Amino acid sequence: MASKPLQLKFVQSATRAHQLPELGPEVAFVGRSNVGKSSLINALANQRQLARVSNTPGRTQLINVFSHVAGGAVVDLPGYGYARVPGHIRGDWSSMIEGYLLEREELVMVLVLVDGEIGPTQLDVQMLEWLRYNDVPHTVVATKSDKVKSAKRQRRKRDLAEGCMLEQGDIVWVSASKNVGVERLRDLVISHLTT
Ligand code: GDP
Repeated sequence: MASKPLQLKFVQSATRAHQLPELGPEVAFVGRSNVGKSSLINALANQRQLARVSNTPGRTQLINVFSHVAGGAVVDLPGYGYARVPGHIRGDWSSMIEGYLLEREELVMVLVLVDGEIGPTQLDVQMLEWLRYNDVPHTVVATKSDKVKSAKRQRRKRDLAEGCMLEQGDIVWVSASKNVGVERLRDLVISHLTT
């Protein structure tokens, strides 16, 4: 039976963790700009415009919080690695994200989105190493699985897992466009939000 969409409601944007409301356990989404993060959050919630798709950098540089009706919250962190942002904004980005990831008591799981077709990039690997080093619980989600041709899929899965220094089974593959793997991820998110 199909699982119900995540019932999410936008609550607020913030630049610092301490400005965020306390809504219970939080699952955060992080990834390189354009990895498909907004599309995936929209697919999980089955809402087309909850998180904005293909945004300009200025509008995506905030921490966005969505409350989950049955408890907890989904936190959309700004995408990293936007070549066009000036250095000082990149500096702010690091302190904002690092502050959230290190200090936020409500945070129970970070979903690190990696582009299934091209990832992991060097920035993704750096992010994973940083999370590991700081003992922040995280799961890798490979996006846009529909872009990987079936003949190449096994190899791509192996390469992506190796690049992330993980086993293939540790990675959740999804396609927001084709609704593949979305239910499995939804169940995973719900299990964390309701712990
Ligand atoms: P964000 O910057 O990480 O929030 O990424 P977006 O959700 O805005 O998506 C970036 C681009 O990738 C857009 O053009 C989306 O239409 C496309 N995209 C997102 N998810 C998928 C997917 O599952 N499959 C394919 N083929 N394209 C996707």
